[in-house]
Amino acid sequence: MQKDVDAIRGPAKRARRRDVARAVPKDTTMDAPSPAVIATVRTTAELREQVRAWRRAGKTVGLVPTMGALHAGHLSLVRRSLQVTDRTVISLFVNPKQFAPHEDFSVYPRNEDRDGALLAELGSHLLFAPHLEEMYPAGFITGVSVPGLGDMLEGAFRPGFFTGVATVVTKLLLQCLPDRAFFGEKDYQQLMVIRRLVRDLAIPVEIVGCPTVREADGLALSSRNVYLSAAERSLAPKLHETLHAVAQAVANGADPSHEEGQAIENLLCAGFAKVDYIAVRDSDSLAPPSPKRSWRVLGAAFAGRTRLIDNLAVPV
Ligand code: AMP
Repeated sequence: MQKDVDAIRGPAKRARRRDVARAVPKDTTMDAPSPAVIATVRTTAELREQVRAWRRAGKTVGLVPTMGALHAGHLSLVRRSLQVTDRTVISLFVNPKQFAPHEDFSVYPRNEDRDGALLAELGSHLLFAPHLEEMYPAGFITGVSVPGLGDMLEGAFRPGFFTGVATVVTKLLLQCLPDRAFFGEKDYQQLMVIRRLVRDLAIPVEIVGCPTVREADGLALSSRNVYLSAAERSLAPKLHETLHAVAQAVANGADPSHEEGQAIENLLCAGFAKVDYIAVRDSDSLAPPSPKRSWRVLGAAFAGRTRLIDNLAVPV
């Protein structure tokens, strides 16, 4: 399979293929160029075979887990992986275990062809896009949970969310066994949960955190931003603005709980429908902040029915 995938990479701009090649693409040099396409596998067995072949050839492997609907934030993780590893696998799986019944699983944006074309353009090496049954075959029962870290903040407002995330990320890491896996600071608590589970379970992978990519007005890119109406879209950057103000204030010595309360009031006055939390926390443990440690300010608020999350480092 190694030969096949690497063979596809060269002529990828010419050959349109959905699943990983079992034969070298036919010579289409006379055809008009068609968009770049990434080699795609859907099973753990195919993924492992490819990764094993890369390893035998002395290559390092990076994994970028995503739920698709790719934007510049996701692509920044892919670029980072391409810079620091020899081969980059992107997983695309909309994980039902991290959606509550009332959440947006059924309407979550999905466009594998577009995602694949974006990834191929960057020079990514493999898309792992498993079907539901591959990830959760009948009888699947195991869950990975990170109590404490996974129960606060996001976990308190989305019960079961981090167990869903931790379970799927553990599985993806074990399916791929990459040298490094890349996650965005946009989902800061998720990054901390993943660092912890990797440490606790001794999964041999380096977790690389990557900075949040934002729109020019400060709004963090998110696949869910497509849900925002025009009015909600113009309100949305206020979350970042408010977190920034809290971070500056507490860096200058203001009382964290006073700033949190003030920020919630400001967001509600600005037009947010609901604010789940604004919280200044220890950057590593996410426990309430104590002196001489680094701090992070995190927030979640609804612009209309769309839930936005964001976070920033408190400057030292
Ligand atoms: P998702 O598809 O939402 O599960 O996100 C996949 C990965 O992309 C996660 O590690 C996210 O933290 C990361 N990510 C999402 N949005 C951004 C962003 N605006 N900047 C950087 N990374 C992001």
